[in-house]
Amino acid sequence: SECVRRLSFLKDLGLGYLTLDRAGDTLSGGEAQRIRLSSELGSNLTGVCYVLDEPTIGLHPRDNTLLVNALKMLKQRGNTVIVVEHDEETLRAADWVIDLGPGGGERGGEVLYQGTPGRILRSTRSHTGRMLRDRDRYRITSRRRESPPDSWLTLYGAHERNLKDADVSIPLSTLAVITGVSGSGKSTLLMDVLYPNLANRLNGSRVRLKGCSKMEGAKAIKRVLVVDHSPIGRTPRSTPATYIGIMDELRQLMAGLPDSRTMGWRPGRFSFNVTGGRCQACQGQGTLRVEMKFLPEVYVPCETCGGGRYHEETLSVKYRGKDISEILKMTFSEARDFFSAVPHLRRALEVVCDLGLGYLGLGQPSPSLSGGEAQRVKLSRELGRRDTGKTLYLLDEPTTGLHFADIRKLLEVLNHLVDLNNTVVVIEHNLDVIKTADYIVDLGPEGGEKGGYLLAAGTPEEVAKVEGSYTGRFLRKILAKSKGQGVGSQK
Ligand code: ADP
Ligand code: ZN
Repeated sequence: SECVRRLSFLKDLGLGYLTLDRAGDTLSGGEAQRIRLSSELGSNLTGVCYVLDEPTIGLHPRDNTLLVNALKMLKQRGNTVIVVEHDEETLRAADWVIDLGPGGGERGGEVLYQGTPGRILRSTRSHTGRMLRDRDRYRITSRRRESPPDSWLTLYGAHERNLKDADVSIPLSTLAVITGVSGSGKSTLLMDVLYPNLANRLNGSRVRLKGCSKMEGAKAIKRVLVVDHSPIGRTPRSTPATYIGIMDELRQLMAGLPDSRTMGWRPGRFSFNVTGGRCQACQGQGTLRVEMKFLPEVYVPCETCGGGRYHEETLSVKYRGKDISEILKMTFSEARDFFSAVPHLRRALEVVCDLGLGYLGLGQPSPSLSGGEAQRVKLSRELGRRDTGKTLYLLDEPTTGLHFADIRKLLEVLNHLVDLNNTVVVIEHNLDVIKTADYIVDLGPEGGEKGGYLLAAGTPEEVAKVEGSYTGRFLRKILAKSKGQGVGSQK
């Protein structure tokens, strides 16, 4: 019947584990997108142009094939499907590939390649082509860091939602990855069991453990932090520069200039969050909020300061020819070059660029950042801290929105955090990340009630040997491809 047909589309998209009464607002972005896609599969429309943004988010490689088949089905009915995607399999399945670049932001925007996926491999201009040619992609690159037996964090009998009394251990001071098909219980384990219990313990709270029977090894951890996709700020007052703390440095720098001293201006003069040097018309927001009846509110640029956020007088003070408003209009990579003589600032700016965010504007309002960008800005702030160490970082799909080249940079950054004696635990489907992990915890075998078991745990090589693990199966493929090239650890 029609009902069964529609349900089967959901299952085809790897969503078979969702219960029928599941509330829509508890779905992840990827799940919601795939549900919308399944209802399109159910309709028999033709001549539609579908536009999808990263439909593989949250999907295990096992289910990518299902997704690709669904997209092909839409195409065969006479529709056009345009997908923004970083996933290799989707890219290879496309009829036509358009590669933009070469950089992000101002450094991007050029078409580097247009054509069939086969020929992109021969393109000399395309980053994507170069990455796909790179044989290193098919090597296990785990450093295999080990933890002494007494420095593991262990949860016993985790039973929240679909978890089946799983005993899960994570070696500290390593890069650990939690894998498993969508709905297998990864987020539940990390965000609903591990995080709240550890946070309570670290706060000295004696409340009972939640969702598990015992937790061991927490003593070796000083701090736990979730680095997620939630916004870093909800108003235009918040910017990446304020968030990572360089705004303070900038204000001091400006206030230290001779012109400021003559005027008696203190750092506060260069703040757009307090009265003094900011534009009063917009109170330093650069934009004005317009309430619209029946419509979402909109922001329009302030006419008085032209969006510059500051009072005219404040702009008379210049560092190397630039006033504070012009400085905030710079991108992080422009600012890194501009402030190369100010070590403090340069270092903080470099970190942001290293995470592939050099194209963001210093003063760009935080609400304009995507989830993946917000997550990487949070990481930048952590890297800028001097007192890290013994921190446990929890990340959910940090590769969202990242191109292969930027995934490498991200991995360098995560490994750097581990080298500083922190522990990084990531939920990730991206094989480039999985094969780099020191340790893998694989949940499954399926989503929902049929999931929640610990299937495999160990180094990528060890997990590759586990029969019933989908992640293991994909790692075996990588190992097979790398045969004859020598599987070495990358230093
Ligand atoms: P994963 O992170 O591996 O995709 P989850 O931990 O999100 O898996 O989900 C595990 C199970 O719990 C699934 O059956 C999922 O549908 C269910 N689930 C997840 N979040 C909620 C929620 N907020 N309310 C009810 N059920 C949920
Ligand atoms: Zn203004």
